[in-house]
Amino acid sequence: MATTTLKGQPFDRPILDSMLRRRMFYTPSFEIYGGTAGLYDYGPPGCALQANIVDLWRKHFVLEEDMLEVDCTSLTPAEILKTSGHVDKFADWMCKDPKNGEIIRADHFVEEVLEARLKGDKEARGVTVEEKEADPKKKKKKGKATEAVKLEDAVVKEYESILAQIDNYNGEELGHLIKKWELKNPTTGVEPLPPVAFNLMFQTTIGPSSNAPGYLRPETAQGQFLNFAKLLEFNQQQMPFASASIGKSFRNEISPRAGLLRVREFLMAEIEHYVDPEGGKKHSRFHEVQDVELVLLNRDTQLAGQTKVEKVAIGKAVADGIVDNETLGYFLARIHLFLNKIGVDQSKIRFRQHMANEMAHYAADCWDAELQTSYGWIECVGCADRSAYDLTVHAKKTGAPLMVRQKLETPISITEWEVELNKKLFGPQFKKDGKAVEAAIIALSQEQRESLAPTLSQDGKITVEVAGVGNGKVELSKDLLVIEQRTRVENIREYTPNVIEPSFGIGRILYCLFEHNYWTRASDGGDEARCVLSFPPTVAPTKVLLVPLSGHESFKPLLKYMSLKLRSLGVSSRVDDSSASIGKRYSRNDELGTPLGITIDFQSVNDKTYTLRDRDSTKQVRADEETILAAIKSLVEGAKVWADIEKELPAFESQEADLAVR
Ligand code: AMP
Repeated sequence: MATTTLKGQPFDRPILDSMLRRRMFYTPSFEIYGGTAGLYDYGPPGCALQANIVDLWRKHFVLEEDMLEVDCTSLTPAEILKTSGHVDKFADWMCKDPKNGEIIRADHFVEEVLEARLKGDKEARGVTVEEKEADPKKKKKKGKATEAVKLEDAVVKEYESILAQIDNYNGEELGHLIKKWELKNPTTGVEPLPPVAFNLMFQTTIGPSSNAPGYLRPETAQGQFLNFAKLLEFNQQQMPFASASIGKSFRNEISPRAGLLRVREFLMAEIEHYVDPEGGKKHSRFHEVQDVELVLLNRDTQLAGQTKVEKVAIGKAVADGIVDNETLGYFLARIHLFLNKIGVDQSKIRFRQHMANEMAHYAADCWDAELQTSYGWIECVGCADRSAYDLTVHAKKTGAPLMVRQKLETPISITEWEVELNKKLFGPQFKKDGKAVEAAIIALSQEQRESLAPTLSQDGKITVEVAGVGNGKVELSKDLLVIEQRTRVENIREYTPNVIEPSFGIGRILYCLFEHNYWTRASDGGDEARCVLSFPPTVAPTKVLLVPLSGHESFKPLLKYMSLKLRSLGVSSRVDDSSASIGKRYSRNDELGTPLGITIDFQSVNDKTYTLRDRDSTKQVRADEETILAAIKSLVEGAKVWADIEKELPAFESQEADLAVR
C-alpha cells in the first residue's frame, strides 16, 4: 500500500527499516544463528520507547480510572484455556502447498492473490497509459509485467467485496474462494490444499510430568478473570471497576512476515472493565468524551463489500446504535485519545466493527482500532464487549462465585413457581438416578412449572423428561414433590457482570509510531537525505541531546553539570562530544527521535545561558539555565509544545546556531 511520510514524501520502508536496525531500535532475535521468524529483540532506543508508551498507557488508563493492575503468570494450565474456549477455538486457517510443502495462512493467501490480481488489472487499465505519457521508459518496463491482466468489471467488484469482508470467512468459505477463483501460490503455480485449523497456542508441560499440560498464554485476560472475586473484594464490592494487566503473550503465528506487526511473542496491555448488564451499560464519564470524533467503518458497510468510513462523534454513534453501548463507546474514545497523545497520526486511525462471523459468538459488539501502515490497515487495539461469557464459564467449571452481590436499597418481592422435593421419599425411590432426576426437575422453566402444577394436583402425578434414565421419561407422584407459586422478598441481587475489554498490542503501536513519525530532511551539504523520527517528547526514547560546540576543555564541567541537572529532573539525556560536526551530531539524534538539543558554547561558559534546539523545526531559543530546564520539563511532560516555548523565549540565531543546524 502506498503511503506517505509525515511531510507528504513517498514512504520508503526499506530505508526506514534499515535505519531502525542500524540504530538498534530492534533486531531479529538469535540473528547470528540465522534468526527465527516472528521473534525480535528491542535495543536501547526501542526499550526506552516501549517503556515510555507503557508509562503513558498506565497514566492514561490505570491512574486516570483507578484501575486495579495485576500481573499474572504466562504459564497457564490447559484446563483454564479449555474452559475459556481457546483450546478448541483459538485457531487460524492454514493451507499446505502440495508441491513444495509451504504452509500459508489461508485468509492472507486469498487476500494477497486477489490484491495482486486487482493491481494487475489497474495496470492493464490505465496506470500504464498515464505512465506512458509521463515517462515512456517506465511504460516499457511495466508493459512486460505478466500480472498486468485486465479483469471483467463484475470480477473486480467481487474481488473488492471479498477483500472488504476477508475477516468474516471461515475455513470452508476460504477453501471455496480458493477453488472458485482458482487461486494459485505464486511460488509454485499450484492451488493449495483445503484450509485446516491450526491452534495458535504454544503447548508445554508444567513440571516434569506430562500429566500437567499447559500453554503459554495467548492473551493476558484469563488471569484477570480468575482473580475477579478477589479484585471485587479489594474494591470493597464497588461496581463498576476495571482490572488491567501488562505482560507478554504468545501466539504461534502461521507465517509471520510483517516485521514487528506479526510476531510470536509480544507485549499486551489489557483492560477488563466490569459493568452491570442491566441499565444499558451506561458510563458515568461518557459526557467527558461524547464529542470526540472517531472515524468508523461499520459492519454493514463491510458486508456490502465497501470500506467507506464516516467521521462521527462517539455520542452520536452510541445514540444511533452504531456502537452498542456507552461503556464500549467511552473506551473507543479513550483509545483514540491515547493513540493521539503518543503520536499516532490522526488521519491514519480508523475503528472497524467486527462482522458477525468474525466476532466470538458471545460478544455483543467489537471494534478494532486500526492504524494505516505501509502493510495496510493493521489492528492495533481490539475493544470487545465480551458479555458475561468468561466469568460464567469459569464459575460453572470451578463453582467459584464469580459474581456480584448487590444490596438492594428497596427490597424486591419476587413471585415464582417453586419446586420443593420430598427428599426422604425421593432418595430411596430413585437411588442412583436420584441426582439426574433432581437436576431435570430443577431445570424446569417457569412456564413448564406453571403448566405442570395443575396436572400434579388434578392427576396426582406428572411425567418429566430425564435424559439417560429409563426410557428418558420419569413419572413423579404428588407425594414426591410440591409445585406452587410463592412470593419471596429479596434484599440482594446477584448478577454476573459483563466485560468490556480494550486490548492493546504495544509492539504494533510502537511500529506504527515509527511509520507515522518518520520523514526525511533534505540535506544541503550534498549528503543523502537524513531520517527524522518526530516522536512527541513524551514518548521519545531520549529527551535531550547535549552537544558542546567543540572539544574545548572549558565545556566539560558544564556538560557534566547539565547532565546531572537533567537526571535530577528525571529527564533522559545523552552527551555527544564526538569530533563530528555539530550538524552531524544533531542529525544522528534526529534518527533516534531526540526532540531537544542543548548546545554548550563559549557564551554558556561566560553567562550560564544555553540554546535549546527543536528537532522538527531546527529553531533555537536561548535563556538562562533555570528557564531552559523549566522549558524542557514542560515539553517532556507534555504540558507545553515547542510553539509555546518559541513565544516565551527569545529566538537564537547566530553563526554558532547556523553551525548547529547543519
Ligand atoms: P486479539 O486478542 O487477537 O484481539 O489481539 C489483541 C491485540 O494484540 C491486537 O489488537 C494486536 O495489537 C495484538 N496482537 C495480536 N496478535 C499479534 C501478533 N501476532 N503480533 C503482534 N501483536 C499482536
